Amino acid sequence: MPEKNIFKKIIDKEIPADILYEDEQCLAFRDVAPQAPIHVLVIPKKEIASMDAIDHEDAELMAHLWLVIRDLARQLELDQGYRVVVNCGEQGGQTVDHLHFHLLGGRMLDWPPG
Ligand code: 5GP
Repeated sequence: MPEKNIFKKIIDKEIPADILYEDEQCLAFRDVAPQAPIHVLVIPKKEIASMDAIDHEDAELMAHLWLVIRDLARQLELDQGYRVVVNCGEQGGQTVDHLHFHLLGGRMLDWPPG
């Protein structure tokens, strides 16, 4: 059997994570190497490798993820603003092959990104 992806291991509770939210479709946990005071990863439980791999049948799941992100931002009191980032592929800076949304906030974020 192929080695499980690190995020799949977090979903399956085989490795620990600081989980902020979970439901039947998704999981949100703090990034192990935070790039801002608030840095949360929101991932679908469905194994989707990247943004490039989403399908039309995932449309409802994607809408759900955005609403979870919005609710988390409110819960975490990011009322001054925040950023949601999806890195896709090598040039996009993706390092884990399981779709994930970075929710970043708690400081002034630069633009353009590096
Ligand atoms: P990417 O570079 O693929 O967009 O983002 C992957 C993110 O996953 C990185 O920000 C990295 O710090 C985070 N990460 C990698 N391994 C782990 C882990 O085992 N636990 C947690 N909580 N975050 C991880």
